[in-house]
Amino acid sequence: MTESPVLSVEDLTVAFDTPRGTLTAIEELSFEVRTGETVCLVGESGSGKTVAGETITRLIPTPPGRVLNGSVRFDGYDLTAASERELRSIRGNRIAHVFQNPQGALDPAYSVGHQVAETIQLHEDDPRAEDRAIELLDAVGLPNPGRAAGQYPHQLSGGVKQRVVIAAALAADPDVLIADEPTTALDVVTQAQILRLLAELQAERDLGVLFVTHDLGVVAEVADRVVVVYAGRVMERGPVDAVLSDPAHPYTRALLASLPGRGEGMEPLDGSFPDPQDRPAGCLFHPRCPHAVEACRESVPDEMAIGPERTAACIYYGPDFETSELDDEPGFDSSGSEDEPGFQASALDDQSDFESSDPEEDSR
Ligand code: SF4
Repeated sequence: MTESPVLSVEDLTVAFDTPRGTLTAIEELSFEVRTGETVCLVGESGSGKTVAGETITRLIPTPPGRVLNGSVRFDGYDLTAASERELRSIRGNRIAHVFQNPQGALDPAYSVGHQVAETIQLHEDDPRAEDRAIELLDAVGLPNPGRAAGQYPHQLSGGVKQRVVIAAALAADPDVLIADEPTTALDVVTQAQILRLLAELQAERDLGVLFVTHDLGVVAEVADRVVVVYAGRVMERGPVDAVLSDPAHPYTRALLASLPGRGEGMEPLDGSFPDPQDRPAGCLFHPRCPHAVEACRESVPDEMAIGPERTAACIYYGPDFETSELDDEPGFDSSGSEDEPGFQASALDDQSDFESSDPEEDSR
């Protein structure tokens, strides 16, 4: 893996104008994706992670969406200020998206081979587009790509359709792939197959991948680094093994404690997100945080360095508090047990080793 960032998001703040007023979706969000690595943006539904992914290529509807501050750096461009012409040369070409619902991404009136070929033609006039479409369907693991190319979306399962969408996303040989909950609509076996496929394609093509998910199991499976987002702000970031085995921020700890089968059992996260129109002062997590003190309500905590490439935005990592006080959190034992420190990626190994003999089988 090289260390060069291929995509840098800096201090990005995005809001939506609605009849109720201005709703802040993400606030001062920064992260980078390097060539050949997978960065996971993780948080509950509504945390702003999808808005972040879509703002990168300006897919959010504007209006009502507005970038209030920040930049998205890619290959010398600031995509928040790029012209439509510049964006068209990058979106789907250099930066490709894969979304949750493959059905919505495919046109029911055309064969999937035609649709992949059409995507190739969008980016370059290639008389071999039909043949290249079949090659791409082969690359995403369809065992009979020539036959699959002639099939229509309604003839294919969700898993096969998602492979077709991934093939289309790879048509222009992008530098960055933004995958937004690409396996959420799939059964657990197909999910494991698609995750493995994405990992293989990333390694082959040296892609930078931004993976947006609410699922810490998926994070454990695919991430090199993880950025934990709450109400549009970064709570914690770091290498995936460090964050999942030794979570620092109370929100990350609460997310992990809410996983079924962890430790003493599932501890649902109490409370709900702050109203995006009426965000609380101070730490956004304080209304739900068992460790909140008066200082948490007074100012937004900075992200503080807590280890190699690790930060946590919590006052307990500042000079005036002891992090050991966080270990008393009800329902969470930060020390874990010898057998279960935090969350282990290997917990998914059994699942991901399962493969159906034919990815097309589930299309019937
Ligand atoms: S700053 Fe305060 S409210 Fe926020 S996570 Fe830390 S202890 Fe909880």
